[in-house]
Amino acid sequence: MSNLIAGATGDWEIVIGLEVHAQVTSEAKLFSGAATEFGAEPNTQVSLVDAAMPGMLPVINKECVKQAIRTGLALGAEINCYSVFDRKNYFYADLPQGYQISQFKQPIVGEGTITLDFKDGSTKEVGIERLHLEQDAGKSMHDQHPSMTYVDLNRSGVALMEIVSKPDMRSAEEAGAYLRKLRTILRYIGSCDGNMEQGSMRADVNVSVRRPGDEFGTRCEMKNINSIRFAQQAIEYEARRQIDIIEEGGTIDQETRLFDSAQGVTRTMRSKEEAHDYRYFPDPDLLPLEFEQTWVDELAGELPELPDAKKNRLMDELGLPSYDAGILVSEPEISVFFEEVAAGRDAKMAANWVITNLFSALNAQGKGITESPVSAAQLGQLLDLISDDTISGRIAKDVFEVMIETGDDPEKIVEEKGLKQITDTGAIEAMVDQIIADNPDQVAQYAGGENPKVIGWFVGQVMKASQGKANPGRVNQLLKQKLG
Ligand code: ADP
Ligand code: MG
Repeated sequence: MSNLIAGATGDWEIVIGLEVHAQVTSEAKLFSGAATEFGAEPNTQVSLVDAAMPGMLPVINKECVKQAIRTGLALGAEINCYSVFDRKNYFYADLPQGYQISQFKQPIVGEGTITLDFKDGSTKEVGIERLHLEQDAGKSMHDQHPSMTYVDLNRSGVALMEIVSKPDMRSAEEAGAYLRKLRTILRYIGSCDGNMEQGSMRADVNVSVRRPGDEFGTRCEMKNINSIRFAQQAIEYEARRQIDIIEEGGTIDQETRLFDSAQGVTRTMRSKEEAHDYRYFPDPDLLPLEFEQTWVDELAGELPELPDAKKNRLMDELGLPSYDAGILVSEPEISVFFEEVAAGRDAKMAANWVITNLFSALNAQGKGITESPVSAAQLGQLLDLISDDTISGRIAKDVFEVMIETGDDPEKIVEEKGLKQITDTGAIEAMVDQIIADNPDQVAQYAGGENPKVIGWFVGQVMKASQGKANPGRVNQLLKQKLG
């Protein structure tokens, strides 16, 4: 698959690297005991440490360290048993300390990889440069007062993992696949809820362009993008902007830019000359972070089955195609649901029902799998009714529609609506005879052999007469016998 895009003077390649901020799932903040729950009243989850009162000292939260290690392990990355917290200094109203505690030269997690999955079943490896722990800042609220900005410090001090990729992606599609896959992994291990709308996962998107085979070009960075679609739009826009500049003889300034999602454009925020000098130095209030390898090994042993392993298992053991398996492992809740439906049943059939019928019904209702009105057990029962010939696949679709509406068990619906398949040969025979008697023209067509497809028409008529309840296999058989 070629990722090149055409310019006026030839082809270009986009180069993308992502820095993702993922909020650590933890009851308390990185260096204080204040709560982290989303949506609380402003400034109700702020300890004296988070408000940077003089003399307050940070104390590391072991849970956050543990989640960072688990995430590193899930990314197949090296875990550094010795790492250092630094102060990253800058001035901003929502940063009461005047610095953010982060990790600079010695992060807790080093190099790893993420495997991207594409629709055509192909995959690609993207390198992870590092993962470090840092504090979030507070939030400026510009919409509370006509002339003043308020500050909410609830987020101040919340633990973030910054996950930095290598510049290995070459298209907006790949960047989207990267963000989706990273979010899936974080959700599987429960180290971040991956909720981009609530800001618990956001991406800084670095983009440059080059002629295929050339050195990397100068990059621009779009900060704080909170949806995968916006990240992709920003990349497409930004690559085109850079190509146009270079083709017109200009050069790219390394800048930080903002993506304006309403206009679909990127705009300068600050140029390299205005870039912050963060004056990093080791935080004198914190000792270096040290732990034993045995703890890392223990955490590795307790990790759940990861999405790639699960996908391979669904392909190898159940024979599912790569694309189906990829969808079914994309959310931990989906994979659990699917495995319950598939247990002891035809896996391909289970996959089809979940991916096609269930997902479209849920989409139409704007619901996720956890809000499904049809449980995995109920969908399984429906498949059993098809397998044991109680109902046909056609009728099953109607039953399923009622299940989605009412949440009732399939047996109950089949019983109440009298939908049981007619397998009694005598009853089907009577209908077949009637249809043959009523349609001499078609019988003649069939006999004359001029229209072999007419048999399908007969099957349709009998099915209609039986309101879809006749066993189609038997209808076919009887028709062929009787029409000769
Ligand atoms: P900084 O620390 O200044 O932000 P890094 O070298 O750590 O810079 O890179 C930050 C991000 O930018 C990484 O995700 C990296 O992959 C990406 N990146 C680096 N060089 C390029 C480039 N030429 N084009 C696109 N992305 C790049
Ligand atoms: Mg950066």
